[in-house]
Amino acid sequence: MHVGAAGRGHARRAGRRGPGLPPETAAARTRRARAIARRLAQGYPHPEIPLHHSSPFQLLIATILSAQSTDAQVNLVTPGLFQRYRTPADFANARREELEQAIHSTGFFRAKTRAIQSASRMLVERFGGEVPRTLDELVQLDGVGRKTANVVLSIFGLPGIVVDTHVRRLSRRMALTAHDDPDKIEQDLMAVIPREDWSAFSLRLIYFGREVCDARRPQCPSCPIRDLCPSSRYGGFPPWMAVRRAGRNGRGGRAGAVPPAGTPNQSEANSKQRLLARAAGPASGRIAGRTSGGIAGRPTNGTGRGPASPRPRTVPSGASGRHER
Ligand code: SF4
Repeated sequence: MHVGAAGRGHARRAGRRGPGLPPETAAARTRRARAIARRLAQGYPHPEIPLHHSSPFQLLIATILSAQSTDAQVNLVTPGLFQRYRTPADFANARREELEQAIHSTGFFRAKTRAIQSASRMLVERFGGEVPRTLDELVQLDGVGRKTANVVLSIFGLPGIVVDTHVRRLSRRMALTAHDDPDKIEQDLMAVIPREDWSAFSLRLIYFGREVCDARRPQCPSCPIRDLCPSSRYGGFPPWMAVRRAGRNGRGGRAGAVPPAGTPNQSEANSKQRLLARAAGPASGRIAGRTSGGIAGRPTNGTGRGPASPRPRTVPSGASGRHER
């Protein structure tokens, strides 16, 4: 079908994702996104959720606990926790002080205890003690936003894009979205990635963000997808991300600076804001180590940051289920 000059111009404009992004048609962006997805799949053929669990309910609790904590820390806590409290009713009826003590090391333990007990009560009262299988129902639970809901849905085999801090950063660096709002990022990624790959693609981005496309030290020169990433020519700090930061803060930042890691999904942020706003006292939360922003991937060198080696030649292959978290 012939497309005239005006049509081509319109298509080009329609394909732009927003001011500052490299010009690209929607079709070209979709092709590029799928090529990225294929290449990541080579390196991470079987990405697994890094939070240990043996049921949807346990994953729900672990994901709530992972807010502003590390997956490794959560994985240290949950074995004992799940041995002591096995069902939603157990959590709902637990003594608050005892539950707070059990999850203390994950940080924000008071707010998390309230959220866990509230969500558990809702599961008992509204859902017969079972974790619901729809996003709309899951996000009704206290402490559960779209990110947590999509994590939980994934173990039911229901695809969902999980937008944590890594997915947010990488999708912007890869110019797959012009948005900063996690819900809009989720929509943009859903539009270019095949539905059946949504969950795995999210996990692969998370692992890749930890191991290669680090927030502060992206390894662009040796990145295995640098030919598909418009940010490679900017060393991982493209101008379209700097523009957003300057606009949001009302002042210019360091050229190409990226937002600090750890900013969670907006829906999640709202839930977490409710959580954290209720967290009382100075003892309510700081823990050593890097925060994961949710279900994020494994640590690779014991620090939660990227691997010590700065020059991987291929997509890392570590996310095959042997990882610690
Ligand atoms: S080229 Fe750089 S910015 Fe792009 S994905 Fe690779 S490490 Fe990240």
